[in-house]
Amino acid sequence: FDDGPSNNTLKILDILDTYGIKATFFVVGTAKMDYLPLIHSKGHAIGLHSTSHSYANIYSSVNNYLTDIKGISDIVYAKTGVRSNIMRFPGGSSNAVSASYCKGIMTELTTLMPSLGYSYYDWNVSSGDAAGGTVPSSRIVSNVLNGARGKKSICVLMHDTGAKGTTVQALPQMIEGLHSQGFRFAALNA
Ligand code: ZN
Repeated sequence: FDDGPSNNTLKILDILDTYGIKATFFVVGTAKMDYLPLIHSKGHAIGLHSTSHSYANIYSSVNNYLTDIKGISDIVYAKTGVRSNIMRFPGGSSNAVSASYCKGIMTELTTLMPSLGYSYYDWNVSSGDAAGGTVPSSRIVSNVLNGARGKKSICVLMHDTGAKGTTVQALPQMIEGLHSQGFRFAALNA
């Protein structure tokens, strides 16, 4: 789950508890940082996503990126006592948007961050919940189940933001569908 914590985090945690499964939250700087200890205490992984999530800021220079990731790292550490070493680049590690701010910066960052001890994660199944407007929960479910079919290992991209209520609604059917396909769930770790 990217971009949280949010107004939907507690609902997501309840559903994950119901199914007894663990997830990974790639967090950003939001007004809901007080949820971080709860996410952590329930056994979910907390990964670093960004403090600002502003592409224009973080992708304009390596220094800006490092300042921004340190910001969210410090918040996570202050709230949980954990120095997270897992991360996800806003837009993913091969996003094209960053080049408009600084050509070649992803090539630089994808070498630099592992050398600093971070493991970064993209995804190989997208829920499509970041598409414009409200994506119906039925489409989120079918995106995930169709994307997962035939794969041995999946990392599913979803979002934990106040606007993504249909992502929450989609979770039970999605989890049950993935169980039926034979998947089990785990939090990421480096
Ligand atoms: Zn994001």
